[in-house]
Amino acid sequence: MIVVISDDATDLQIERFISDMNAREITAKAIHGDNKRVFGLVGDTSSLDAENMMRNEAVEKVMKVTAPYKLAGRSFHGDDSVVELTKGGPKIGGGAFAVAAGPCSVETEEQILSIAMDVKRSGAALLRGGAFKPRSSPYSFQGLGLDGLELLKIARQKTGLGIVTEIMSSEYLDVFEKDVDVIQVGARNMQNFTLLRELGRLGKPVLLKRGPSSTIDELLMAADYILMAGKSSVILCERGIRTFETATRNTLDISAVPVLKKRSHLPVMVDPSHGTGYWDLVYPMSLAAAAAGADGLIIEVHDRPARALCDGQQSITPALFDNMMGKIKKVRDAIS
Ligand code: PEP
Ligand code: MN
Repeated sequence: MIVVISDDATDLQIERFISDMNAREITAKAIHGDNKRVFGLVGDTSSLDAENMMRNEAVEKVMKVTAPYKLAGRSFHGDDSVVELTKGGPKIGGGAFAVAAGPCSVETEEQILSIAMDVKRSGAALLRGGAFKPRSSPYSFQGLGLDGLELLKIARQKTGLGIVTEIMSSEYLDVFEKDVDVIQVGARNMQNFTLLRELGRLGKPVLLKRGPSSTIDELLMAADYILMAGKSSVILCERGIRTFETATRNTLDISAVPVLKKRSHLPVMVDPSHGTGYWDLVYPMSLAAAAAGADGLIIEVHDRPARALCDGQQSITPALFDNMMGKIKKVRDAIS
C-alpha cells in the first residue's frame, strides 16, 4: 500500500501513524516524491482496510499496490536506483552503464591476471570469475573455492578492478562480505530465500540472476527478500530462460529488459554468455541488450576458450571483447 500524508498533518500525527503500523509489524518506508510526503507500507498489509486508514488524521490517500513485490517496484521508488560497484568506483543504473567481464571460472593466477588486464584495458568496470561453481554434474570442475577467491583478490590488487563472484552457500557469508565487491547469486539460487535474506543484511551490492524457469515477477519478489533489511542493493540480471528451443542453451529474454525497467527501479544487466551458450551469439546479443536499454552486461571472456575448464564454448576472446566494447558504445550513443 502507498499512503499519501495530508499537507497539514503534524509530525506527531505522522509519528503516531508510523508506530501504529509498526505495532502491526508493518514498516512505513518514506518515498521521495515531488512535494507530498508519501510512505510505502512493507509487511503483511492484507489486514489493513483502506477506508479505515483514511480516518487517520495524518492520511490523505491510500493506494493499493497490486504487484506481488514492493521494494523492487517503481511505485515504491520512482527514480532509477544507482548502485556503486566499488567504494568510490564505477556505478550502474540511472544512466551509468557497466560491464563485468572475465572467465566462467578462475583457473590459475596467470589466467585470471592476463584476462583481468585485458578486460580492464577494454573498459570493463568489474572482473567476473567463479570460485564456487554451480555445475549441473557433480563430476565437472567445481571451481577452486577459497583459493580461487584469493586469486581474484590478487587480480583486483593488480588491476584496480572490483570483483564479482558467485556465493553458493551461507557458509561463506563472512568471507564474501570481507573480500568481494559485488556478490553474485546464480540462477539456481534465485529462490534460495534464506540465502537472499542473509545477503540483505550485509550492506553489499548483490547481482541477482534470473532463475532459468522464473518469471519476471518472481525475480522481483526475490529482489524484495534482499532489499527487506534495507541494507544491500540489488542489480537484476537476465541470463536466459528455459524454453522448447534447442538451438541455443537458453532463450535470452531481451524483452525482460524494458519490462524490468518499467516495473522496477533497479539496474538491469544482461548475460548473453549463459543466455545463448555460444560465443558467436554473444556479440549480437550484447548489442541487442544495450539497444533494449540494459544498464550493463556480464560477459565470459577467456584468453584460450578451447582450453577453458568451464563454458569455453560461450566465452569470447579478449580481442573480440575489445572490439565489442567499441560497438556497444556506438549503440548507446545511438539510443541516447
Ligand atoms: C555464472 O555466471 O558463472 C553462472 C553460473 O551463471 P548462471 O547462474 O546464470 O547460470
Ligand atoms: Mn559460465
